[in-house]
Parts: sequence; structure tokens; C-alpha cells
Amino acid sequence: MEDTKSIIIIGGGIAGLSAGCYARMNGYETIIFEMHDKPGGLCAAWKRKGYTFDGCVHWLMGATEKSPFHEFWQELGAIQGRKMFNYDELLRYESAEGKQFILYTDIARLERHMLEIAPEDAKLIKDFIKATRSCLGLQMPADKPPELYTTADGFKLMFKMLPKMSFMKKWSAMSFAEFASRFRNPFMREAINNIWYPEMPVFSLLFTMASLYDKSSAYPIGGSLPFARAIEKRYLDLGGKIEYKKKVSKIIIEDNTAKGVVLEDSSEHRADFVISAADGHATIFDMLEGRYVDDKIRSYYDTWPLFPPSIQVSFGVSKTFDDAPHWVNAALKEPMMIGGKEQKIMTFFFYNFDPTLAPEGKTAVVAFFPSDYDYWVELYKNPKRYKTEKEKVADQIVKILDARFPGAAAKIRVRDIATPVTYNRYTGNWQGSYEGWLPTTVNFHARISKTLPGLENFWMIGQWIQPGGGLPTGAMTGRHVIQIICHQDGKEFRTSRPG
Ligand SMILES: Cc1cc2nc3c(=O)[nH]c(=O)nc-3n(C[C@H](O)[C@H](O)[C@H](O)COP(=O)(O)OP(=O)(O)OC[C@H]3O[C@@H](n4cnc5c(N)ncnc54)[C@H](O)[C@@H]3O)c2cc1C
Repeated sequence: MEDTKSIIIIGGGIAGLSAGCYARMNGYETIIFEMHDKPGGLCAAWKRKGYTFDGCVHWLMGATEKSPFHEFWQELGAIQGRKMFNYDELLRYESAEGKQFILYTDIARLERHMLEIAPEDAKLIKDFIKATRSCLGLQMPADKPPELYTTADGFKLMFKMLPKMSFMKKWSAMSFAEFASRFRNPFMREAINNIWYPEMPVFSLLFTMASLYDKSSAYPIGGSLPFARAIEKRYLDLGGKIEYKKKVSKIIIEDNTAKGVVLEDSSEHRADFVISAADGHATIFDMLEGRYVDDKIRSYYDTWPLFPPSIQVSFGVSKTFDDAPHWVNAALKEPMMIGGKEQKIMTFFFYNFDPTLAPEGKTAVVAFFPSDYDYWVELYKNPKRYKTEKEKVADQIVKILDARFPGAAAKIRVRDIATPVTYNRYTGNWQGSYEGWLPTTVNFHARISKTLPGLENFWMIGQWIQPGGGLPTGAMTGRHVIQIICHQDGKEFRTSRPG
């Protein structure tokens, strides 16, 4: 009989659950230690007085078979029977003067809209639209981990990507800030600078827009928690074990080989392999005490920017917002200090497209904006001040919401404030970053190793392995690591679908 090898997985976010599912499909004994009391990590939602406040998914790549991630979500049991919602528009930028730029998901409509706003920038707009169309059908290789690529695989990939190479190179080297600066129209310049983070490469937008247009990305009705719960169920059905409220404090190393973990309650657990699907910084510098790190890895953590630690203020509002788009970035009339940082833009999400998140006739509304991690860590030391500041922030947001949607304030029935400290407390993510490293023109093509120098039988997966993070990264890196382990063990990698 084949010896059954065992794997300890640290963290039950999407990456950890994915690794657990694929490990079970391939006959490994698995246990996930998760410090929180639920699955999903950042893929979270919470209920307050009949409203569900979603903390994650806006679009899921892999909603249809056009994306390779679709197969992964099927294998993970994440999307069976789930309705998908397709946005007509991804987001809307509103200037302080009330001008609007709408990122329509219909590419032809987007082109018309941009040309109406800025006919003087026709050449640039047509270039941008052409590049978006070029992303249609473009799929990043996901089926096999790069670590297992043969020379033949490399050539095949190069051949496939060759026709797209030059436009990918051009748009992944161009930041939003640079793209914005090329517009002659001042409003377009302002809008492009304020739709996503200015350091991000425009390619990430092109790719997203193409996937929303061809519907391979969509919003899964029900939102984040049912999505995570479905993968947890798949894992348990496959015979996997998960223990909640179990925080790993240390990885046991003998002869430079990972042998298991020590939990916060001092209990020791041993396995043949250890996979960390938890925060990258805590894994490398706390659980492994910085013993397995080189200058390259250190430089990522020292120099790459993070998705800014952010505040989410959620409201249960006893009214509908029929005309509100899913996502608005509204410029404030005057910059305001909110939550320890000057804000010029306020992002609102109106979940009027998901009836499961609020009772009929009511809406879950979320405000989301960057903040300062250290500011909140300092406040958190004094619970009274922390709470007072949170309420002050919520009051400021209510005023902004009410100015934009008169009468909304009077209809607010419940409110909830999550700060960067909340993100860190519930998921352990470094500085409360909600998607790991921000993709920039510098790190966009970086390939981060899943192993650490000098350490055997240990891998890292999840959002700290790929700038930009995201749910597909979790599913993919979880799948890849099991492919690598199977390869190392001389086993054929197998997958299945539930049922
Ligand atoms: C507001 C917001 C919007 C987003 N929108 C989207 C979107 O539209 N589409 C998309 O694809 N992605 C989106 N994301 C990103 C996505 O949620 C994350 O990138 C992804 O969920 C990360 O998964 P992960 O498994 O890598 O990490 P995590 O979710 O951080 O999971 C790590 C897990 O490890 C646990 N853990 C940490 N330390 C320990 C320890 N010492 N011991 C035990 N357990 C530990 C944590 O509790 C957590 O459960 C969004 C995120 C946020 C917050």
C-alpha cells in the first residue's frame, strides 16, 4: 500500500482551502490551522441587523469557461449553482463639478463615451480600446506551475503569447499616472488618475475590462462568504480537516527541513510538508524568525508598495438606490482629513444588484478609502479613543453620502467600521494590506518563489506570491503547490469535480 504523506496548511483563506482540496484529491492527509473562526480569510462578509456587509468580491475571474480559472472553481465546488451578475459598468468617476466618466463594460459603448468626452484625444482613446480588445481571449497560463515548465512548454507559451507580446509590454510598462498625463482633455486626465491606484499598470485594467466584457469575470450572487463556505464544504467532503481558532506561532525546523508547526497554545503538530497560506511577512519574519530569507525577498518587503491599508464603512440603508451604479469614485468638493489621512476621493459601493445582501427595499452600502496603518495601531492601544475615532469617521462618511444622495442619512439603520487594524486582526495581513502588494510597472512581471532559500519541504502560496493577489491567485497557487508536491513524489496530479 502507498504511504500516505501528510501536509499541514497554515491559514484557511482561499489559497489554503484550495491547497487542502487538491491535496485531498491526490491522497494526502491534510490539516488546516486557521486562526479565525471561519473560512475565507479576506474573502469575508459579516451580518448586521439583517444586512450583509461584503468585504471582498466585486468580480470573480473564471465565471465562465472562457477563463482557465473556471475549471479551478468547478473543481473547488465554488460556483456550482451560483448565479453570476454582469455589470453594465465597472465604475463611475464623478468630479467635484458633477462631470462623469463611466467605465462601461461594453467596449464599443466605452469608446463612444470616451470620444464624446475627449474628441481631441481620439488617437489615444482608440489605442486604449484596441488594446482592450486585444485582451479578449488572452489567458494567462494557469494550468501548470512555472516551476514544472519544460523547455518545450516554454517554447509553446512563447509561441502562443508572441502576437500579444508587444502590446502587453507597452501597457504593462505604463502606469495609470502616465496614461492620464497623455490626455489633452483635463477631465479625462483627472478621471484616469482617480479610477484605480495611479502606480498600477494600465494592462491590469485592460485585462479586467476585457474579462468583464466577455463575461469571463462576473460577480457571484451571494458574495464572498457563501463562496468561501462552498470551498470549505468541498474540502471537508474530500475528507480534509480544518481547525479554527488555532494560530500558528512557529514552524518547526530540523536540519533545515520543515517538520510541523507550533500553535499559540504551545501544542506541536508534525507533518511531512508544511504550506503557509498565511501572510507572507508573518510567515518569513515571525514563524520562521527571518532565518530563510535572502536580499531579493527582503527587498520585496522593504520596497514594493502595498495595496493601501484601508477603511471600510458599511451601512444598512432602508431604501433602494435604483440609479446608483455599483461603484462610484466621487471627488470631494474640498479635501478632508478622514481616518488620519487626507481624502480627495470617496469610493462608494452600492450592492443593489445582490438581493441576498439586504431585505427587499433596502440596500447595503459601503464606503472604502485608504488610511494609515500606524495611525490606527496607535489608536487601538486605547479602546475608547479607537472607538471614538471610528464613530467620527462614520459620521464624516454619512455627511458625504447624504450630500450625494440626499435623504440617505435619515434611512441608515446600522453602520459598521473596519479599519486597517481590523484587517490585520482578522486575517494577519501585514499592515492590514487587503490584497498584498500593489502591482506596479516594476513588479508586474515578477515571479516570486514559493520556496525559501535553504528550507526544504516548505512552500508559500496565496496573495503574497503574486503582486495583485486576488481570489484566482489563491486558487491557482494552492493548485500549483500540490502539482509540485505530486511531481516531487513521482505521482500523477489528479483533479475531480464534486459529485
Ligand atoms: C475590499 C476587498 C476587495 C477585494 N476584491 C476582490 C475582487 O473583486 N476579486 C478578487 O479576486 N479578489 C478581491 N480581493 C482580494 C482577495 O480577497 C484576496 O487577495 C484573497 O482572498 C487572498 O487570499 P489568501 O488565501 O491568499 O489570503 P488570506 O485571505 O489573507 O488568507 C490567509 C488566512 O490565513 C490565516 N492566518 C494568518 N496567519 C495565521 C496564523 N499564524 N495561523 C493560522 N492562520 C493564520 C488568516 O486568518 C486567513 O484566513 C479583495 C479583497 C478585499 C479586502
